[in-house]
Amino acid sequence: MPELPEMETYANALRPRVVGRRITQTIITREKSINVPVTVWTECLVGSAITQVERRGKHLLFHLPGEQLLLLHLMLGGWMFWGREDDKPERTIQVQLSFGEEHLYFIGLRLGYLHLWKMEEAERKLAALGPNPLELTEEMFRKRLLTRRSTLKAAFLDQGFLAGIGNCYTDELCFEAGIRPDRRTHELPDEEQTRLFQAMLELLNRGIRSGGYMEHPFYVGDAHTGGFNELCQVYDRGGEACHRCGNSIVQSELAGRKLFYCPGCQR
Ligand SMILES: [Zn+2]
Repeated sequence: MPELPEMETYANALRPRVVGRRITQTIITREKSINVPVTVWTECLVGSAITQVERRGKHLLFHLPGEQLLLLHLMLGGWMFWGREDDKPERTIQVQLSFGEEHLYFIGLRLGYLHLWKMEEAERKLAALGPNPLELTEEMFRKRLLTRRSTLKAAFLDQGFLAGIGNCYTDELCFEAGIRPDRRTHELPDEEQTRLFQAMLELLNRGIRSGGYMEHPFYVGDAHTGGFNELCQVYDRGGEACHRCGNSIVQSELAGRKLFYCPGCQR
């Protein structure tokens, strides 16, 4: 499932393409991917210009005039593609937004959704999200850790703890910090809290710089998206050798979630 760096990568790629541009057409092939009747959807969107693209946690918000917005969550399997009719991938497209000759395609949007809301309704939906980890001070981070009382894995996966981190970046940032993800939040000594905070910022920024881990390019010739895949140290590498120490990466499970760590580099 795309996490903060993947959605930030999408937002950065989308802004120069869609902000200020009018939606000329929209095609819905899976009505369950949206939350209003197609007629209402079409009437609201066609002719409207997107005023801003914002990321909140793992969501993207496409702001529209009149205090309205489209709220996107790709969940598992969802992705986006931008291009002309001839460029579009041979996949089932659930939602299409057209901007003249160019189109934004939403693909694999089965668990995921693109919902039309009034701003205040969207704010209510997003009210439970925790802070943006990239805007947190170390002091705020420590305070959240100490009052949390769970494993690091459970804390980082909880979108109310911090918004935007998921399975992959949790394991990767714990590796970066040299701390096992099954350690408990309130039991980390000061020095490890600092390491974890710095590793989190470093990892998320590295993820954004390298284009996140999405497998599909966002447009024809896109060499940026997906660059983080090559940089994963532990995630989905169970049984493989650690690049740093040579030990076998351990894959285990914690409360039903996959967990990866290096027994040589992490304590
Ligand atoms: Zn190692």
